[in-house]
Amino acid sequence: MHCLKGKCHCGNIRIDIELSKAPAEYAPRACDCEFCRKHGASYISDPHGSLRIEVMDSQRLGRYRQGSETAECLICTGCGVLVGVTYRDGERLYATINSRAIDNDIGFGEALSVSPKVLSADEKIRRWKALWFSNVTFVANDA
Ligand SMILES: [Zn+2]
Repeated sequence: MHCLKGKCHCGNIRIDIELSKAPAEYAPRACDCEFCRKHGASYISDPHGSLRIEVMDSQRLGRYRQGSETAECLICTGCGVLVGVTYRDGERLYATINSRAIDNDIGFGEALSVSPKVLSADEKIRRWKALWFSNVTFVANDA
């Protein structure tokens, strides 16, 4: 397992990742929707890895829905960084992480341009379940 850490700029949202493969084997997915382009976001996830998201002050966690409005973009309202995106199906939380929120230069593979906006809402959900972290712990604290 390869352990990575990340956070938003001010440290309000912190992430701990375990990847099943070496970082170079992951191609960050640069989503071409208008929202992700404006953030310069490209996403890393691993259905065989694990992810922990901890929010130090839940008052400064922004949840933004766009596109098909089925997933939530997690944005720190303190510093404005887009940390990742989550999708909840009953008890299970799926998530993908903005590779730009990961600390240091990890040496991921070359980014790949993707266009999930052309998919239907059902197709997107199938894609998220196949590609995203499904072993996700989410902790939100009150300051
Ligand atoms: Zn922040």
